[in-house]
Amino acid sequence: MKTILRTENVVKNFSGLVAVRDLSFEMAERNIHALIGPNGSGKTTTINMITGAFPVTSGRIFYGDTEISTMPTHQIARLGIGRTFQNLKLFTSMTVMENLMVGGHQMMPSGILRFLIDPATSRKEEKQVEEKAKQVLDFIGMYDLKDEKVSSLPYGRQKMTELGRALMMDPKLLFLDEPAAGLNPSERVEFVNIMLKTFDLGIDLFLIEHNMDVVMNICSRITVLNFGAKIAEGTPDEIKNNDEVIKAYLGN
Ligand code: ADP
Repeated sequence: MKTILRTENVVKNFSGLVAVRDLSFEMAERNIHALIGPNGSGKTTTINMITGAFPVTSGRIFYGDTEISTMPTHQIARLGIGRTFQNLKLFTSMTVMENLMVGGHQMMPSGILRFLIDPATSRKEEKQVEEKAKQVLDFIGMYDLKDEKVSSLPYGRQKMTELGRALMMDPKLLFLDEPAAGLNPSERVEFVNIMLKTFDLGIDLFLIEHNMDVVMNICSRITVLNFGAKIAEGTPDEIKNNDEVIKAYLGN
């Protein structure tokens, strides 16, 4: 099976605190992969390094055959790596549609400098992004809410908007930081369904998730961190019965 993502001996040091230590793992293509571990074990820091938000202290990260360890965030996004954030990063005073369009414009040739190009090209781009936003809204079941201000929506809808914005950037590999957190049971079922539909579109998923039902039900492979180090890796069944993992969670 082809590897889509690989880290080699990755370390992240925050002025003396080692948040991630010597982390090596691989993710195979066409997979839903989970990164789990107790609070503070280095999961978000790992995503931040892979997506370019934090530089690695040492070690290397590869997306396919391309080394991305030192690439800036926007370049990594353009390669096809998307993400959502644990604390949503939406423009809450803007509408759902406007938030999606911001994501879409970032991937257009003119990007945020679109106002400097000629009006006809700019209008064409605007139309393309708008069409795509409508398709994504339909896909996430939020077309009817497109003109609502994000701040007026329940948390579950805001989270779905953030997923929609990430989809506007045409990811091939999507990182989701705690997708189920804060959702009520019916919102959680809906979000899981949309994640599975997203996977069916051909987008590989990498989740950080605390909800073990979600992890065990939809992920094919799990990497477990504790105190910044990998302590286990395997299928849901292997991880469920792993003594190191049980100890790490009970000790927390
Ligand atoms: P997790 O996502 O598993 O809960 P994090 O990756 O958020 O863990 O954090 C791992 C460790 O790194 C924690 O001790 C946290 O306090 C520390 N940390 C995370 N981000 C920063 C930062 N920007 N500056 C300093 N320390 C940080």
